[in-house]
Amino acid sequence: MLNGRMSSPANSPDIFIIGGGPAGLATAILAAQRGLRVAVADHDHFPVDKACGEGLMPDTLAAMRRLGITVSRSEAGPFRGIRFHGADRMTSVEAEFAQGFGLGIRRTVLHTKLVERAAGLGVALLWGRRVTLAGGGQVLCEGQLVHCKWVIGADGEASPFRRWAGLERTRYEQIRFAARQHFRMAPWTDLVEVYWARDCQIVVAPIASEELCIAVTSRSPSLRFREALSQAPALASRLRNWCALDRMRGARAALRRLRRVCHGRFALVGDASGSVDPLTGEGIGLAFTQAAALVEAIKHNDLQSYQAAHDRIGQAPRLMSRLMLMMDAHPHLRQRALRILAAEPSLFSRLVNVNAGELALSKFGVSHALRLGWRMLAPGWEF
Ligand SMILES: Cc1cc2nc3c(=O)[nH]c(=O)nc-3n(C[C@H](O)[C@H](O)[C@H](O)COP(=O)(O)OP(=O)(O)OC[C@H]3O[C@@H](n4cnc5c(N)ncnc54)[C@H](O)[C@@H]3O)c2cc1C
Repeated sequence: MLNGRMSSPANSPDIFIIGGGPAGLATAILAAQRGLRVAVADHDHFPVDKACGEGLMPDTLAAMRRLGITVSRSEAGPFRGIRFHGADRMTSVEAEFAQGFGLGIRRTVLHTKLVERAAGLGVALLWGRRVTLAGGGQVLCEGQLVHCKWVIGADGEASPFRRWAGLERTRYEQIRFAARQHFRMAPWTDLVEVYWARDCQIVVAPIASEELCIAVTSRSPSLRFREALSQAPALASRLRNWCALDRMRGARAALRRLRRVCHGRFALVGDASGSVDPLTGEGIGLAFTQAAALVEAIKHNDLQSYQAAHDRIGQAPRLMSRLMLMMDAHPHLRQRALRILAAEPSLFSRLVNVNAGELALSKFGVSHALRLGWRMLAPGWEF
């Protein structure tokens, strides 16, 4: 059922996509919706799991609806906004999304929905297949030459395709390390919570009526999950009688911006094309929006327009990533920022809604940006 009308890449699709994660499948769905013949090859097997915070922001859900996919509340954990907790156990600030809600959803459930939609549109899905690039830009799938017009790298953060295609050069890159685990426990709030601890951030998202997804992100590759929790005592005490539902999964978390995301008949999409910090919760939404821009560019035979659109699409989450990483790196600034936001919740609300795509970056307002920046840097600012 999961293999569409083209069971072999030798059937000459218009687009051959390397990687069947959210980015690759969204590109395949949108291209198939526009009448293109598409094959997706992934070296993993369906359904693919991945360490992720599993929170889909309102703009991600809107992009998903454009793919023809809906998620009911019973398949996921709805949340109406974000709450930050400071390490001092006293400072916390929360904001609701201006419109709509977010959803926490298991990666395997999300993957199943994307795969079913792609298969329904006749996309050829090739699981457990290794793709390599030979000399002269030739693409091989399990050793067979692939004949196609466009080759898309959607092979994730560590993308081998990016290297093969000569698109590896970065504008900037910052790597952190993450771990995720699921717990059987009823959510105690309908907000996604972010606990800012000494060496990490811990994100708690509801993913069902009795399930939580907890993801830890840190600069340190050796920080253990339990040690991370011990740095957030308020959370640790809630999880005292925890029941883990699965093994922990680790991943690298990168903020990366590439110089170029396409050339010739090659293009990158999703994390392969650069990524934002997990704390933004925007990685999957970005992948969906990039996929739409890429398919549009392919339809017009104009990959350069994809480069421009890609630069624009990532602006707000890249900025937000930089703010989050600055708070991570400088405990003093972090505490200062959290106190400013707690004292002025409307500022936090604007930040959350810019990040969630509900407020244009240009509408954040120069005066708000300056006020936040000045107060974070002004040494004499007291609370
Ligand atoms: C800790 C953490 C928390 C996160 N939390 C969130 C969140 O709450 N919300 C959100 O929106 N985003 C979140 N993200 C980001 C999100 O997970 C990514 O942005 C998203 O997975 C990107 O999708 P992708 O398809 O580009 O890459 P991936 O999901 O990594 O998929 C890439 C696919 O390519 C395949 N592949 C790799 N190499 C090859 C090869 N050589 N040949 C064939 N196939 C290959 C892999 O098997 C995989 O299936 C988080 C990330 C991390 C690390």
